Amino acid sequence: VKKEGKGGYRFCSDDQNRSSAERVRLETRLRKAVQNEEFQLFYQPKTDLASGQIKGMEALLRWPQPDGSMVPPDEFIPLTEDTGLINPLGYWIVRQAFLDTNRINKLTEFPLQVAINLSVRQFRNPELVIMVSDLIRETGINPEWVEFEITESMLIEKVDEACEVMKGLRKLGVELAIDDFGTGYSSLSYLRHFPVNTLKIDQTFIRDLSSDESSESIVRAIIGLGHGLGLKIVAEGIETQVQSDFLKSTGCQLGQGYYMSRPLPLKDFIKLL
Ligand code: C2E
Ligand code: CA
Ligand code: CA
Ligand code: CA
Repeated sequence: VKKEGKGGYRFCSDDQNRSSAERVRLETRLRKAVQNEEFQLFYQPKTDLASGQIKGMEALLRWPQPDGSMVPPDEFIPLTEDTGLINPLGYWIVRQAFLDTNRINKLTEFPLQVAINLSVRQFRNPELVIMVSDLIRETGINPEWVEFEITESMLIEKVDEACEVMKGLRKLGVELAIDDFGTGYSSLSYLRHFPVNTLKIDQTFIRDLSSDESSESIVRAIIGLGHGLGLKIVAEGIETQVQSDFLKSTGCQLGQGYYMSRPLPLKDFIKLL
C-alpha cells in the first residue's frame, strides 16, 4: 500500500529503503567531514607537450577514509550538490587551492596556474563572485594564477545570468576554462559570447584517438576552432606516448594525464617541480 500526503506514510521497497538509509548515513558523514575539514586536494600537472615543462595544475578533491583509502569525488560531490553542502565545501576548496598555489609559486621560477573545478550549484550561487574576491584579498594570491573550470552544461540554461557570473569572475582577474569540452549539447556559437580563456578537450576523445578515426577529426576540429578563437587548448586524459605525440602534432600546447603524472598530494606534487 502506498499512501502519501498529510498524515500519510510512504511505503518503500527494500531497495529504496536501503539506498535512502545509505544516503542519509553518507550525508551525515559528509556533513561532519565538511565541518572538520577532512578533505584533501590533489594536484595533477598541466604540461607543455612540446617542452615537457609543467605550466600549471588542476586541483582535484579527495576524501580520505580512516582505512587510508580515498573516496573519489564522483561518489560524493553529487550528494553535496543536492544537500547544499557544496557551498561550505566549495569555499574550503577554493581557499585551500589558493593557499597551496601561493606555496607552490614560492618554489618555482615561473608562476604556475591552478585550475579549480566549480560545480553547478557553486556556479549558480549568487555569492560566488564575492566569495572569490574575498579569498583573493585574504590569501593575497595573484588572480592571474587562477583558472576556474566550468562545464558546458552550466552554460545552456540561463545564458545571460551565466554570462554575468563569468564576466564578474573575469573582472577579478581570474581566467575561465570550459571543462569536458565536446560532450555538452550547446552550440559552438556561444563561445564567441562567453568570456572564456581555455577549452579542455574531454578525455573520452583522447581515449578513443587510436581506435576511432572520428575522435581524431573531432580533436583536430576542437583545436582548430579554439586556436581560431584565440583560446588555449588543454587535452586531458593522456595515457600514452602515441596520444601525446598525436596531440603535439596537431598543435595542442597543453596536456594532462596519467602518462605525465597522476594527481598527487601537495607534497609529492612539489617534488616534481
Ligand atoms: P574532471 O574535472 O573532468 O577531472 C578529470 C578527472 O580525470 C579526474 O578524476 C582525474 O583524476 C582523472 N584523470 C586525470 N588523468 C587521467 C588519465 O590519464 N586517465 C584517466 N582515465 N583519468 C584521468 P577525479 O579526480 O576522480 O575527479 C572526477 C570529477 O570530479 C572531476 O572531473 C570533476 O568533475 C569532479 N571534481 C574533482 N574535484 C573537484 C572539486 O574540487 N570541485 C568540484 N566541484 N568538482 C570536482
Ligand atoms: Ca576539471
Ligand atoms: Ca574534464
Ligand atoms: Ca568530468
